[in-house]
Amino acid sequence: MKLFTGLEEIVSSNHSLAPHTWLGLGGPATYFIEPTSVEQLAQVSRRCRENEIPTYVLGSGANVLIDDAGVKGAVIHLGREYFKQVTPVAGGLRANAGADMGQLVLRCVRQGLSGLESLTGIPGSIGGCVRMNAGGAFGDIGNIIQSVDVMSEGGEVFTRSRPDLAFAYRSSNINAKFILGATFGLGEDDPHRILKQVKQIWIYKKNTQPLGHRNAGCIFKNPRGLSAGALIDRAGLKGKRVGGAHVSQKHANFILADEDTKTSDVLKLINKVREAVYKKSQVYLELEIEVW
Ligand SMILES: Cc1cc2nc3c(=O)[nH]c(=O)nc-3n(C[C@H](O)[C@H](O)[C@H](O)COP(=O)(O)OP(=O)(O)OC[C@H]3O[C@@H](n4cnc5c(N)ncnc54)[C@H](O)[C@@H]3O)c2cc1C
Repeated sequence: MKLFTGLEEIVSSNHSLAPHTWLGLGGPATYFIEPTSVEQLAQVSRRCRENEIPTYVLGSGANVLIDDAGVKGAVIHLGREYFKQVTPVAGGLRANAGADMGQLVLRCVRQGLSGLESLTGIPGSIGGCVRMNAGGAFGDIGNIIQSVDVMSEGGEVFTRSRPDLAFAYRSSNINAKFILGATFGLGEDDPHRILKQVKQIWIYKKNTQPLGHRNAGCIFKNPRGLSAGALIDRAGLKGKRVGGAHVSQKHANFILADEDTKTSDVLKLINKVREAVYKKSQVYLELEIEVW
């Protein structure tokens, strides 16, 4: 591995990606790299750039589908200790990109910090949630972000703060390759009240989403003013199956993966859903998940 001389400890070759994603599908990455510090991340990124190796940043893999052939390039995962750190700051918390959203919500409950409860039940890392402006009916993560630390592919680190930040439906104006962490503005509140809210949102999610089955959340974005799930339901696709992949009976915008599913099954099912929805409602559904 001459390419990564001096970095052998954090690089593995031909590394299976399926266990790193919520759908649990797909082939290996040519390189899987877990830097332990920002400096090491910069070194890795520069090394990949110099050698023209495409790079992908993986969070918790809750919104990505990996091709059966795997990923030709370097998948960089910010999962080591440094990237999981969360620290108190005036008026809130700062979380590094690899910190887990669910654990952060629970920490806020314990410490009586309110603001993040709207993210209850949304799996992901802070980096992935910021990149996607994760959220839904109860609010989006962008609403409570004060600043985001980012790094370019060349290794330049800088901070983006409000009012320079803009968040929209599942997107933002943060274009830098790496999100290193974010600062959240949180209010003080009674932990019991926050917990009550978290429980209410959790019960709502449990009642409306097929938890307990491998999935990647919503497959398609909601077209403006419409619900992708309702359009898929109207096209009569609940339960529709290709191989081990099937449309959830509980929430039509979720595709579930049985044990023996291939990524190609999911992709074929996605195409069938798109075609049927277009035929029924003349709406072309855009993917919310990313296919690598
Ligand atoms: C059961 C279930 C329920 C879900 N419900 C919701 C929901 O209600 N609302 C919602 O918005 N989403 C939902 N999702 C989707 C998912 O939780 C979000 O998209 C989440 O933000 C993904 O975070 P992640 O860390 O897993 O990102 P990944 O899936 O690993 O990556 C997603 C994108 O973020 C990028 N990325 C990740 N980390 C970084 C980083 N450090 N720097 C730069 N880019 C990065 C990746 O390159 C990729 O482009 C759900 C998923 C599941 C499985």
